[in-house]
Amino acid sequence: HAKETGKARCVVYNPQKFNQQEFDVSMEAAMFDAVRNGEFFLHYQPIVDAVTCEVLGYEALMRWMRPELGPVSPSQFIPMAESNGLINLLGAWALRSACMQLKRFQEAAGRPLYVSVNVSPRQFRNEHFLGVIDNALKSSGIVGAELLLEITEGILMSDPEHAEAMLNQISARGVKIAIDDFGTGYSSLAYLKRFPISTLKIDRAFVQDLPASVKDAAICNVVLSLASHLNLTTVAEGVENAEQLAFLSRQGCNLIQGYYTGRPMMPDAAIALLRAGANAAAPVPVGQN
Ligand code: C2E
Ligand code: MG
Ligand code: MG
Ligand code: MG
Repeated sequence: HAKETGKARCVVYNPQKFNQQEFDVSMEAAMFDAVRNGEFFLHYQPIVDAVTCEVLGYEALMRWMRPELGPVSPSQFIPMAESNGLINLLGAWALRSACMQLKRFQEAAGRPLYVSVNVSPRQFRNEHFLGVIDNALKSSGIVGAELLLEITEGILMSDPEHAEAMLNQISARGVKIAIDDFGTGYSSLAYLKRFPISTLKIDRAFVQDLPASVKDAAICNVVLSLASHLNLTTVAEGVENAEQLAFLSRQGCNLIQGYYTGRPMMPDAAIALLRAGANAAAPVPVGQN
């Protein structure tokens, strides 16, 4: 076959590709052990008021630290867990831990806060998912309204009937729904009308070149205006500097999440941040990734 193309291509032995596959297989095997060995944990990234920079909530972000080998990126292990099914176990653990952690955050802050948890398509389709939510609420003692579930546009588009039924049942518990990475998937404005959604998270892709990029500025303005008319809360992701914060705040974005106002951090650091209070005059980048 290699000859037919007329070029000397090496189709059988590609060491780089081979090593990559071997690496993935060993990583996949390691994942099952990692669950048992407790190698997974959660970081928490502050979500702050766009005007006052007060911390209003945290997004729980999953981390995997392999002994000797170091951290594995979620963009690598989440898709793997999604395909091998471990995401159901990991996701249920994350939801429950995040809710229990929120209780401690609230106690440290002496005021209400919320926690935002990512939900993968496979988890959302799982027949036990509502039970997992109920269990997390019950064992943590937080109320439904203090939990925000982040889903992606694909979940809504692939099976709208199922999504509608699920979202209605989730809403009946007071739990709120955010569209994560808004504008980057298979978007349809119709779903903003059909489904009980509370929050739009504007993807970092539209934020990173603000305020210089005329196109990104236009996209952000339109999304913020749309959200405001539909009574949806807006969160801008990936805010890394004062100029981006100022622009988004001025355009009416409600909440900010990004390295500028706080990196994903361990629970102790999140608690220290809450104890420091809203007195901090200017947002100071805190935590480590
Ligand atoms: P996401 O839900 O959109 O999370 C935001 C990502 O942006 C996080 O990456 C966060 O660390 C990163 N980020 C936040 N602020 C900044 C910034 O200012 N600059 C830059 N460059 N990046 C920023 P992370 O933690 O690597 O997670 C990647 C993705 O993995 C998440 O994207 C989410 O889709 C998925 N993920 C993470 N934890 C979970 C989980 O518990 N369950 C599921 N199903 N997915 C998860
Ligand atoms: Mg998210
Ligand atoms: Mg996001
Ligand atoms: Mg994103």
